[in-house]
Amino acid sequence: MSSNSPKTKTDVEDPVEDNVPPNASEPSGSLGSRIRDQLDVDSIRRYLALKLGFYDLTEPSAPVEKVLDEVTFDGVVKWIKGNRCKNIITLAGAGISTSAGIPDFRSPVSGLYHNLQKYNLPEPQAIFEINFFCQNPKPFFMLAKELFPGNFKPTISHYFIRLLHEKGLLLRHYTQNIDTLERGAGIAEDKIVEAHGTFFTSHCLECRKEYSVEFMKEKIFSDQIPICTDCPGVVKPDIVFFGESLPARFQHCVQMDFQKCDMLIIMGSSLEVQPFASLVDMVPDWCPRLLINREKAGQRFFLLRACGLISGNSPGGLQLDDESVRDVARLGDCDDGCQDLADRLGWGDELRALVAAEHARLESEGNLTSPHGPLPSSPPPAMPAEKL
Ligand SMILES: [Zn+2]
Repeated sequence: MSSNSPKTKTDVEDPVEDNVPPNASEPSGSLGSRIRDQLDVDSIRRYLALKLGFYDLTEPSAPVEKVLDEVTFDGVVKWIKGNRCKNIITLAGAGISTSAGIPDFRSPVSGLYHNLQKYNLPEPQAIFEINFFCQNPKPFFMLAKELFPGNFKPTISHYFIRLLHEKGLLLRHYTQNIDTLERGAGIAEDKIVEAHGTFFTSHCLECRKEYSVEFMKEKIFSDQIPICTDCPGVVKPDIVFFGESLPARFQHCVQMDFQKCDMLIIMGSSLEVQPFASLVDMVPDWCPRLLINREKAGQRFFLLRACGLISGNSPGGLQLDDESVRDVARLGDCDDGCQDLADRLGWGDELRALVAAEHARLESEGNLTSPHGPLPSSPPPAMPAEKL
């Protein structure tokens, strides 16, 4: 709409009773005023959604369809096997990569933060802060040597996501991980959204020249700070540091995808990091949501819900209790959960064969040997402190 066009109705304005002044001869609390209040709430909600760039097309006042025959793991399996499930979104956190031996950043004992003291950082997370990096990139690149992709094999969970894609069911895979194991597992690039960025590409912080993973690997493993070939700028992997925006692709895909989603699978994430954690609220109100994780997560307003202050389908995270009509938790190891799901879907042997063949291929290509020695045999240990 151009700025000089005549006043036109928009979503933000009250869509009824143009010729009636607000509240004219109408007692508060009447049906009319309640309808108007509700419309106002909806209008504000739509306005905020538009302003924030999220187009929420759900009608909160419409009755919500219950699509699962039973709100259980088997109910979810039946839904995925059915005709109406065509657009699955997967959300993944560190839990899908831990069995590959990728260190957990935040674990207090084995996690990387715990092992960063030798770098004299003002605080552990400074190693991922853009301001600190600009002043002193060396600690990050020493750490990057440990985290560098290519030294780890994708897990059963990664190959399960690839199977979802090959079955034509994967709308998109959103990952918080920066380990590039999704790419390593052969999931099509256009199906992946790396919400926290990736090691796969890098850019000069000054002139924005792009660099390949090979360039970075050579520099990092020879203990050099990667410097741009065109200017004196430092080259930084495109992982999102504290103080940086999420990738534009994340915003773009979120707007396109979530209202189309008819099955959300959250894997190996504690859903504590925003805005990733709020994505669970962006699917339609009826859309089933399955959590595959070691413990329950994402119940942001658990107490409010328990007190009856918010209803079953209000935005506010997952509802993992007896009242749930669409949320299911499959607690336990992520790989076990994915294999279990594949088995029940009838794809179990296919998944086992895919994992075995791909792991054999990666091993034969010889790209998996860590600079610190051969990869350990299964099960991989947590990243030992002495390597840092
Ligand atoms: Zn440059």
